[in-house]
Amino acid sequence: MHDIYDAMIIGGGASGLVAACALARKGRRVVLLEKQDRVGRKLLSTGNGRCNLTNLKAGAENYQSGKQAARTALKAWPPKKVIAFFETLGIPCVADEAKRVYPMSRQAASVLDALRLGCDEAGVEMRTGSRVTELNPGEGGFEAVCEGGGRVYARCALVCTGGLAAPKLGACGDGYRLLERLGHTIVPCFPAIAALVTPPEPVRGLKGIRAEAEITLLCGGEAFRSERGEVLFADSGVSGIAAMQLAHMVNVALYAGKRCAVRLDFMPGLDAPSLLRKRVADLPKRRLEDFLNGIVPRRLGQTLVKAAGLPLNAAAGSLSEKQIDALAGVLSGWTLTVTGTQGYDQAQVTGGGASLKHFDIRCMESLCLEGLFAAGEVLDVDGDCGGFNLQWAWSSALLAAEGIEAALDR
Ligand SMILES: Cc1cc2nc3c(=O)[nH]c(=O)nc-3n(C[C@H](O)[C@H](O)[C@H](O)COP(=O)(O)OP(=O)(O)OC[C@H]3O[C@@H](n4cnc5c(N)ncnc54)[C@H](O)[C@@H]3O)c2cc1C
Repeated sequence: MHDIYDAMIIGGGASGLVAACALARKGRRVVLLEKQDRVGRKLLSTGNGRCNLTNLKAGAENYQSGKQAARTALKAWPPKKVIAFFETLGIPCVADEAKRVYPMSRQAASVLDALRLGCDEAGVEMRTGSRVTELNPGEGGFEAVCEGGGRVYARCALVCTGGLAAPKLGACGDGYRLLERLGHTIVPCFPAIAALVTPPEPVRGLKGIRAEAEITLLCGGEAFRSERGEVLFADSGVSGIAAMQLAHMVNVALYAGKRCAVRLDFMPGLDAPSLLRKRVADLPKRRLEDFLNGIVPRRLGQTLVKAAGLPLNAAAGSLSEKQIDALAGVLSGWTLTVTGTQGYDQAQVTGGGASLKHFDIRCMESLCLEGLFAAGEVLDVDGDCGGFNLQWAWSSALLAAEGIEAALDR
């Protein structure tokens, strides 16, 4: 006879750890199977090592796909309740002006430690180096087959294997294969938070330059979404939170055969032509290579002057009205073709995943197979930057833990 756990959690990332801890605290026998040699590696990299663990403003509108599931999970486990859960683990939280929530220590490592300790104290059995390659339903529960042949049995199974983003931190897509074999549909995946790729020529020489801007995504010539914030130029593209958040829409639009571009406004809300006319009057001798200095970084200013078709060595006072308008046009609407996004190696979050159509989103139980649950990024839910993805990981996992509780009592 083999040992049967109440629940097996497949994947020891954000959602797996929280679900394991919550279930074990209810006195359930829980085993957590993690393929890497330690749990929660991705968590350590979140929020630049500070872990932006939720956002007090979180609402369904912060999710690009899976809005209904996000709404349900947010209702059951809103940010304040998630924060209260973390407080029971010894993690007091603080919020910044954008309502992004961090551990008081501002250290992702302390969040991971608290989850690990919470799991230990509640009696979760953690098995690292255990990659689940098969999940088989059987009488009274599930059998997980691990790489190397080990087998684990439990009455309920929760798939928390994450998506495809950041493979160096464990992402591999195994969860999709496990769920697909059990009758689930996988919505095609793509990088959802990632830098945008442009042709190299227009941004040549700008690598590493940062500027405040409003960035608008144009798909098929139509303006879709605008974000304000810092953009960071790369070798062949644009990065920074404001740009990366557009990746979901870029990938969907390109897949649909639409052309994409971004329009960068470095003077949002300001009357660029009037301001430039005044500047010309104030600084008639200033060469164009330095003319935009102070509005944008110098090198970016020079690129914009060239993009307006003007010579860098001309004096500002020599500009015609038409030339001033051309420069103002570029300064408040520099348009760059977008040919794609960076791949999963550099992406933070996956779009697509296990379709929510086959889950009861009130408890995250499969509609294909009783006792099977899923939570976190493996599902077709992705949110914006700002703590919304971890909020989904925690809240869907805590909902699943409640669902498993109910299933075990059935
Ligand atoms: C660099 C970076 C920074 C980020 N910063 C933030 C942030 O500040 N705020 C925010 O809200 N979101 C952030 N995110 C997104 C967030 O980290 C993820 O959305 C979240 O971790 C998803 O949780 P998860 O539990 O679903 O998956 P993961 O945390 O990816 O965990 C999945 C786990 O499953 C394991 N696994 C996979 N397959 C198997 C298998 N077959 N058997 C056993 N184990 C398996 C993996 O090794 C992994 O440990 C960031 C992401 C990245 C990459």
